[in-house]
Amino acid sequence: MTRTLIRDVDILTLDPSSTLITRGKIAIDGTRIVAAGESPKDFAPEVVVEAAGHLAVPGWFNAHCHAAMTYERGWAEDLPFPRWLNERIWVAESALEPEDVYWGAALAACEMIRGGVVAFNDHYFHMDQVARVVEESGLKACLAWCVFGIGDDKEVGANLHGTLDFIDRWQGKANGRIRTALGPHSPYVCPPELLQEVAAIARRTNLAVHLHLSESEEQVRNSMDKRGASPVEHLERLGILDGHCTAAHCLVASDSDLEILSHRDVTIAHTPITYMKLAMGACDLSRFESRGIRVAIGTDGPGSNGDMDMMAAIRQTVMLQKHERRDPAALAGDAALRMATRAGALAMGFDDSGEIAAGRAADIILLDMDKPHLLPRHDVVANVVHAAKSADVSHVWVDGRLLYENGKILTLDEERIRAKADEGARRMVSRGMQRVRTYQG
Ligand SMILES: [Zn+2]
Repeated sequence: MTRTLIRDVDILTLDPSSTLITRGKIAIDGTRIVAAGESPKDFAPEVVVEAAGHLAVPGWFNAHCHAAMTYERGWAEDLPFPRWLNERIWVAESALEPEDVYWGAALAACEMIRGGVVAFNDHYFHMDQVARVVEESGLKACLAWCVFGIGDDKEVGANLHGTLDFIDRWQGKANGRIRTALGPHSPYVCPPELLQEVAAIARRTNLAVHLHLSESEEQVRNSMDKRGASPVEHLERLGILDGHCTAAHCLVASDSDLEILSHRDVTIAHTPITYMKLAMGACDLSRFESRGIRVAIGTDGPGSNGDMDMMAAIRQTVMLQKHERRDPAALAGDAALRMATRAGALAMGFDDSGEIAAGRAADIILLDMDKPHLLPRHDVVANVVHAAKSADVSHVWVDGRLLYENGKILTLDEERIRAKADEGARRMVSRGMQRVRTYQG
């Protein structure tokens, strides 16, 4: 357990009033922040970090991703969502081996650490492999093994019951840095019986649920035709929304859908770059905000976004709101930063994180602000949202442990991971591939 003092640092606490402390100190004892601003008189640090010219912010929480989809970066370009899934993504994933998930997620971990991500909410397959990466990298994560429930031959590596064994193996492991969730794919693929069973397990075990929800007008129309209920109403009836839930996307939601969500412990994971790249449209986040529905930000997988750059996702969240609503006042920068920190932390069940304040987990990043594109500093929040890049991240601490310092990842062998992942991704797409399920909207 290390005692660290970060000295002479500007601190964007991202507390509810977005307090900015200039040339202050952050004292970390073990996994916790013990002071932000001044350090306690009797604090005797073992490590001192001189951070003049740097800005400390809470690390990013990537609220929805498929880390090992780094293997599908550049693999499914310029296609509409149904063809993207049916012709490319679900084809490649039919050839997925556990080892692919390990190296794919390790590559993602390198990218995320470099970009200041401290935790990710992952939804994929062969999740023991992702858990290994989390354990080794020092990151935090909430891991959900994606299941479809349309026959064991259509699953990847485990059915729902297999994923419960995964949850038993990993919940709370890596000193509490690993959390797990149930991961039904979506109401448009999963039959109601599977969703009901998931809801019953979630109620019994208090586990969170992470799934995809209401991504298009077509999905809503099909749901209304089939069940006389919107996807949100359908989940509500099945009991999926009774507990703690992350719903990725929710791009199409009626006022009555939002009324349901406002009474539930649901986080909407918003991934703007996927929406733009796959031309899926946008949603007005003020409709969620005004009803008190929590919104967090994610990168989604590199098969639909291109990268796992949270700072790009934060900036594009703000841009897309302003552009879509033709309103330059739409979504202030500090609100977007809180979505990418505290809201994501709550979504993943790391309730003690997402702000720089005494008592919080020491999940902190430093940005090197001594760069041409970050001067002058009339408005630090504006500089972070609209000008800073992931490459400006100089330090990353997770639970008080330094994972990254000035270009070097301290926990992973990045060179080996890059080589193994590059080789593995090329091997995967050269295997015999056959789609095992079809998206029908
Ligand atoms: Zn997704």
